[in-house]
Amino acid sequence: MKILVLNCGSSSLKFQLLNMENETVSARGLVERIGKEDSSVTFCMDSYEKIKKEIPVKSHKAGVQIVFDFLTSDEFKILKSKDEIDAIGHRLVHGGEKYAGSVLIDDDVIQTLRDCSVFSPLHNPANIAGVEACKELFPGLPMAGVFDTAFHQTMPDYAYMYALPYYLYEKHHIRRYGFHGTSHRYVSQIANKLLGREDTRLISCHLGNGSSITAIVNGKSLDTSMGHTPVGGLIMGTRCGDIDPAIVTFIESIEHLSPEELDDLINKKSGVFGVSGISNDFRDLEAANKRGDKRAKLALEMFDFRLKKYIGAYTAIMGGLDAIIFTAGIGENDPETRYEACNGLEYLGLKFDVEKNKNIKGELAEISTSDSKVKVYVIPTNEELLIARDTKDIVSSINSK
Ligand code: AMP
Repeated sequence: MKILVLNCGSSSLKFQLLNMENETVSARGLVERIGKEDSSVTFCMDSYEKIKKEIPVKSHKAGVQIVFDFLTSDEFKILKSKDEIDAIGHRLVHGGEKYAGSVLIDDDVIQTLRDCSVFSPLHNPANIAGVEACKELFPGLPMAGVFDTAFHQTMPDYAYMYALPYYLYEKHHIRRYGFHGTSHRYVSQIANKLLGREDTRLISCHLGNGSSITAIVNGKSLDTSMGHTPVGGLIMGTRCGDIDPAIVTFIESIEHLSPEELDDLINKKSGVFGVSGISNDFRDLEAANKRGDKRAKLALEMFDFRLKKYIGAYTAIMGGLDAIIFTAGIGENDPETRYEACNGLEYLGLKFDVEKNKNIKGELAEISTSDSKVKVYVIPTNEELLIARDTKDIVSSINSK
């Protein structure tokens, strides 16, 4: 079974073609800056060098067509025709309270994406554009949707409610939704396999340009740090994470900012970038810290402190801890952040393997000592594979009906 996985962002489109017989990737790529003059397309295959072309890509539909033309081109011959694709799996961002799992995409799902666009104004419309483009280009082909929010639908009400007037939840559905659900689900499944059981208490740290942390009990999300939007929780590349909410209205009045400018400030100008004034990238910040830059040092210390605070809080709400997982750009590649998060947690029964940690980048590894009661794992995330697996399951179940 061949499955095309699409991840349509506000101005980008990532794709992977997976062969599900052996779960291998036949081709992958990225269309960037859709709708801009300098849009580009990058394709990658095992046997070829990466190919990057500057091509005008006006819309998501044009992007999907370019992906498809590439897959069937005489030059690469990855597919003979579009009939070889058995199904398409879409990464969808916000499914509100309606979807707690992956779904076969129909008009209802598209309507839910529309209804939830108020919560996710950049991503949901892009998701809809990707789905609509595929419907036109591949009429009748089954498509599945895998929501970022779905995994966190198991949170109990006392975890997802905000202490605001209750009508705001009833009328506007204001509550914690959480994000990165597909990544947290994928890495927690692997951690449970490594632990050899399902009745586990895990803390999954997805640390990338956007970061979130999730408490997972028996495979189910109990609490997660991102909230109604992806701005809450951990300190991020350019997002502020948790702050006193009254600061926002205070800044609005003293800096005379519009709602759009405030949104831009907390989403794009804050986080480690805002504090350091240097970069959102941890490689730049660590280099600046080594040169003695005080604000880079402060930004990194703030990030580590917040992360450890959440690890403590989540251990408490789960009544103990079996494993901590690190994933995504920082989690997979940055030994210093992993060390800072775990250093001092010996009282939990965690023994960190300092030497092993230093050499682990982008690979599956256990970085606690063999006698550590609490395990620490680096697990590279693979949302595309989980989307393809869910799509395969959904398509197989309709075919068997
Ligand atoms: P992601 O959003 O998961 O793609 O993660 C991107 C972020 O990962 C970058 O902005 C960096 O902060 C971080 N990152 C990637 N590689 C490294 C590395 N080798 N060391 C430290 N941080 C890294």
